[in-house]
Amino acid sequence: MANPLTPDVLVDPVQLTRALVDVESVSRNERQIAGYVEEVLRQMPHLSVDRLGNTVMARTDLGREQRVVLAGHLDTVPLNDNFPSTVVDDLIYGCGTSDMKSGVALALHLAATLPDPGYDITYLFYEAEEIDSQFNGLRLVAEDRPDWLRADFAVLLEPTYGVVEAGCQGTLRVQVRTTGRRAHTARAWRGVNAIHAAGEVLRRLADYRARTVTIDGCTFREGLNAVRISGGVAGNVVPDECVVEVNMRFAPDRTEKQALEHVQEVFEGFDVELTDSAPGALPGLTAEPAREFLAAVGAEPAAKLGWTDVARFAALGIPALNYGPGDPLLAHAPDEHVEIGKIRDGAATLHRWLAPAEF
Ligand SMILES: [Zn+2]
Repeated sequence: MANPLTPDVLVDPVQLTRALVDVESVSRNERQIAGYVEEVLRQMPHLSVDRLGNTVMARTDLGREQRVVLAGHLDTVPLNDNFPSTVVDDLIYGCGTSDMKSGVALALHLAATLPDPGYDITYLFYEAEEIDSQFNGLRLVAEDRPDWLRADFAVLLEPTYGVVEAGCQGTLRVQVRTTGRRAHTARAWRGVNAIHAAGEVLRRLADYRARTVTIDGCTFREGLNAVRISGGVAGNVVPDECVVEVNMRFAPDRTEKQALEHVQEVFEGFDVELTDSAPGALPGLTAEPAREFLAAVGAEPAAKLGWTDVARFAALGIPALNYGPGDPLLAHAPDEHVEIGKIRDGAATLHRWLAPAEF
């Protein structure tokens, strides 16, 4: 198949979205789409291009004072009777239209049409965001090519419906364990029931008042929830163990360590074991390119409540946010689609932000 990303497609972000959607790229099958993207980027004299696995990096080196990253993942979730794309009125339907080939199209369109941006730009088109993080292209770049991520500010073009979503919440999981002593239920007084003891764990969760924290104008709502409970030996045995699995979503003003300490405090007197944790990311909206970006968008930012790859940039000290034309509520849905107007708005906003300063 000839490369569908032809010059007349690259200048139109809407056509480009369709062309990208019509190259199937379910996670772990990004080789073809990465090849097309790499091939067109290598034809642009203002970019230097490199590749790691199925992740493609292209950047300008104009000696600007600041550098920004525009990043998007090339993979999609599995197809669901929604391939190839179709257009109905002003909507493009298809797998990846919202999450996030419309966002990738904006970055690729800018790479093709903006040879002299006001900031140096690093474009990153990466693999395997939708699956286990061991495959995540951005994670692999951070490990093997950390210089690709050197920047003052990063925008991930994930679906936000044209709103700026800044920072992200951290997440951790613990197992809260209660212990007792087994006995036959006919002689229950000889045992200690561990499931009954878990009642106090559930009471503390029910009574818990989660914080709401506002940082740089973004409001984060924390949460502490039991997500699983297990215990019991047999129908006639007083159980000697019960485990309540608890997930905390925490605002980015807490570190992972502080969040764990907080959870240990909540469950004081119980055995608490950490099983999984990932840091949050501060909104970081005070950096100059971030402020100019917000001015170009012209709307107030909102907090990102889920965990996203924004946190990978934050861990490297690079402020990052999400901004993309797709609707996050449609991501991964069989009727996934994107509004053509949102694609055009997004392209205009990014051009406004990145066009060279006029003297
Ligand atoms: Zn995504």
